Amino acid sequence: MKLKDIGEFGFIDRVAPFGMTRPAQVVKGIGDDCAVVLFDGLNYLLVTTDLLVERVHFRMEWTEADFLGAKALAIQLSDIAACGGRPLDAFVSLAIPEHIEVEWLDEFYRGMTDYARAFQVNVLGGDTTGSKTDLIVNVAVTGQVPMDQVLFRHTARPGDVLILTGPIGDSAAGCDILLSSPDLPERISQRLIHAHVAPRAHVKAGRLLASSGACTAAIDVSDGLSSDLGHICEDSKVGAIVNEDSLPRSEALLDAAAAMGKDPLHWMVNGGEDYVLLAAIRPERVDAVKTVMEEQGCTIHVIGALVEEPGILLRRTDGGEMPLRPGGWDHFRREP
Ligand code: ADP
Ligand code: MG
Repeated sequence: MKLKDIGEFGFIDRVAPFGMTRPAQVVKGIGDDCAVVLFDGLNYLLVTTDLLVERVHFRMEWTEADFLGAKALAIQLSDIAACGGRPLDAFVSLAIPEHIEVEWLDEFYRGMTDYARAFQVNVLGGDTTGSKTDLIVNVAVTGQVPMDQVLFRHTARPGDVLILTGPIGDSAAGCDILLSSPDLPERISQRLIHAHVAPRAHVKAGRLLASSGACTAAIDVSDGLSSDLGHICEDSKVGAIVNEDSLPRSEALLDAAAAMGKDPLHWMVNGGEDYVLLAAIRPERVDAVKTVMEEQGCTIHVIGALVEEPGILLRRTDGGEMPLRPGGWDHFRREP
């Protein structure tokens, strides 16, 4: 059997049952944005880790070293944000091929540590090895969240309102632009490429959602809305209705789609690497949460609601409906 037969998530489900030997301290193991473990009696400890592999996640010619360093950390802080937490400490492991210059690594660390400083995150360790061909970057981050505020994927309820904390699709469009170099005005391609190479973590939004007491579940949109909403729905045993018209999108995305003859909806729902938060909020509290978040400089867009009936339905602009199946990123089931 090959990994493409079961997919990335089939593989994770397969290995998940074997990991737990000391369950007493564990609040949530495999299956959420962070592992959640008992900590100091007031807060939970959050732990998250991700790999970035050259030619799989990035290309050297697409990104400056400092942007890649910042992104490697930002995508981890995004997982901490998805659990409602505050990031604490980072561990950075690198497998470095011969062709990488020390000056490049200096810039990588400058980008990462500038980003870390903005969130008061320490870099406390890691590991360094050689690599035969590609650069491999692993960042692990710890965080903390008050025990009564932690946000999971499996706790959403029918009737909850679905929100996003920012626009979706820009990063996927930026990636397509890097791949195909279409003839686009500079300001459009720059904005979309920037979204791809320099995503920001919505840590403040995550903390505000968590401390509102009105948020029942959250995830960060890393694989694409259809897949990440699929995780909330499957894990919470609910369905969802999403309104196409309500999906937040940038002008640059629409301009690029028109110029490239692409459907912007595909970038928005299947694209991934948006690193905005997707959250479920009790319906009677949405207006109050929106007011507080906007006062604090965060945005929130209502995109639909959760329902009892399983499955995700997309209400199209033309009034039609279509099922929204997970079409986002899976490392072993990539569309060509
Ligand atoms: P995210 O996109 O939020 O980083 P992933 O989709 O990468 O989450 O992972 C989903 C869950 O599976 C997480 O709990 C993660 O820690 C776990 N996981 C992923 N790969 C492995 C692995 N090789 N072994 C054990 N757990 C894994
Ligand atoms: Mg995540």
